[in-house]
Amino acid sequence: KTTSPALAVTGLAKRFGPRTAFADLSFQVDQGEVFGFLGPNGAGKTTTVRTLGTLIAPSEGSATVAGLPLTPENGIEIRKRISLMPESPGLYLRLTVAENLRFFAGLHELTDVKERIDRALRAVNLTDRADDPCRSLSKGLRQRVGLARALLNDPSVLFLDEPTSGLDPVSAREVHELIDGLRRRGVTIFLTTHRLAEAERLCDRVAILNTTLRTIGRPDELRDQLFSKTLGIRTS
Ligand code: ATP
Repeated sequence: KTTSPALAVTGLAKRFGPRTAFADLSFQVDQGEVFGFLGPNGAGKTTTVRTLGTLIAPSEGSATVAGLPLTPENGIEIRKRISLMPESPGLYLRLTVAENLRFFAGLHELTDVKERIDRALRAVNLTDRADDPCRSLSKGLRQRVGLARALLNDPSVLFLDEPTSGLDPVSAREVHELIDGLRRRGVTIFLTTHRLAEAERLCDRVAILNTTLRTIGRPDELRDQLFSKTLGIRTS
């Protein structure tokens, strides 16, 4: 018996008036896979994440997210099964780490809040910073609080929008290691990046987006393609 994919996307498009953010998207992401969305600024990565994350409705096409058809009626149920970490984590800087997490747990009407917060803090190695105000944390640590926030509901699919953008190399490496840990726990991860090296480091498969999907494959396959395109060499 084959397991159902974590994400299945067919002919998905999002338009804002005359402007097309993305179009013709069709792909699947397996459960437990780390799937990268690679593309330049304005390619439509964030809009794709927002659409699959139920924040905005697609203009065309269909998708299944964490086992449920992406429809307005399924929004609440889908949001119980997924999490979305935006590029900037949106924390209350005057509140402590734990206070932020309590607030967001309450917003999502989660139960067993204390246990959830303890688990999320452990998952991002921030237990000892629970009582620090977020204002006092570095950008890298705030990003980890954002990740803890995204883990509160034990998502089966986690969307990470440019999770290391603007981080120094050490903080970026820490985030990479946390993503490795989530992968080992079987979380399906959909992440956007504009750095090929990051996609290679983290992802089982990568899609290259520039409004439409240009190619999709394992990072080593893509590197060969990109390389041959740059040099104008045909590999087939
Ligand atoms: P970046 O790396 O800069 O965040 P991105 O790949 O995430 O880029 P998007 O933010 O998804 O790209 O934007 C894709 C296109 O859709 C852009 O042309 C953008 O201006 C447009 N767009 C996004 N959101 C809206 C909106 N709410 N209204 C109008 N146009 C929008």
